[in-house]
Amino acid sequence: MRPRDLKIPEQRHPEKAHRPDNAQPKKPDWIRVRAPGGKAYAETHRIMRDNGLVTVCEEAGCPNVGECWSQRHATMMIMGEICTRGCTFCNIATGKPDALDAFEPGRVAQAVEKLGLKHVVITSVDRDDLEDGGAEHFAQTIRAVRHRSPGTTIEILTPDFLKCAPSALETVVAAKPDVFNHNLETVPGLYPEVRPGARYFHSLRLLQRVKELDPSIFTKSGIMVGLGETRQQVLQVMDDMRAADVDFLTIGQYLQPTPKHHAVDRFVTPEEFAAYEKAAYGKGFLMVSATPLTRSSYHAGDDFARLRQARMERLAGASA
Ligand code: SF4
Repeated sequence: MRPRDLKIPEQRHPEKAHRPDNAQPKKPDWIRVRAPGGKAYAETHRIMRDNGLVTVCEEAGCPNVGECWSQRHATMMIMGEICTRGCTFCNIATGKPDALDAFEPGRVAQAVEKLGLKHVVITSVDRDDLEDGGAEHFAQTIRAVRHRSPGTTIEILTPDFLKCAPSALETVVAAKPDVFNHNLETVPGLYPEVRPGARYFHSLRLLQRVKELDPSIFTKSGIMVGLGETRQQVLQVMDDMRAADVDFLTIGQYLQPTPKHHAVDRFVTPEEFAAYEKAAYGKGFLMVSATPLTRSSYHAGDDFARLRQARMERLAGASA
């Protein structure tokens, strides 16, 4: 795919260096994570290194890495470690990415096979420098995993393909992932400060378009809370997602990676998360995960089995 001529500074984190420091508040008692370690954790780490793969678990400093990797569950990040966007919540470096690695889809497929994954989550950095936003690379990765591990279900967590022709999304959908996830990340009112390079209604439309192109694919989206949003705004996002036919909603607490990132406005209590989950099921989502430590790919394999079951039950209910 022909690269676009993007004027992005070469050094890592250029946009963060001039940002003011935001104090990082002490985490409340309900945010407790297991320390990384153990045999399975080390094995997951080794397979990732041996195959030269990048994981969002490490790049984003995910708090669940101890738990997930001990269960041999890692979310692979394709198309490099450098992103063309500068979202203020995200710990991934911003800059000019390297050229795509044509062998990466094969290495991802090999790692999935070695880990023996029943369900894999594959994500990527944003690639505004590529004409198709990396759509064909995503599709090749899905096909490579299918080829080596036909019994593995595949979940992708994609960028928004904002600057691409509609054919980019069609290319990814045609590769038939089982779950298409694209996160809205926050409420529309916070986009200018949290997700400045993105457009809320474009992201929403992308999710709706996936369902229109292939209704058999589950769609999933998520937001972080604790960034300064109101409860009413969160409920509105749920309504917007349901209007776009989104099946699965995730809501988790925003945790500030460094002082240079967006400040934590507050820690949402477990009771408030439970209330969000209840409200979301009331709005018709097939599946909801809303806890302080929920992340897009957290428990994704177990959740996929429940998601499939929920769809069957709903279809059976509709035809009864
Ligand atoms: S929640 Fe997702 S990103 Fe975090 S460690 Fe688990 S698999 Fe990785």
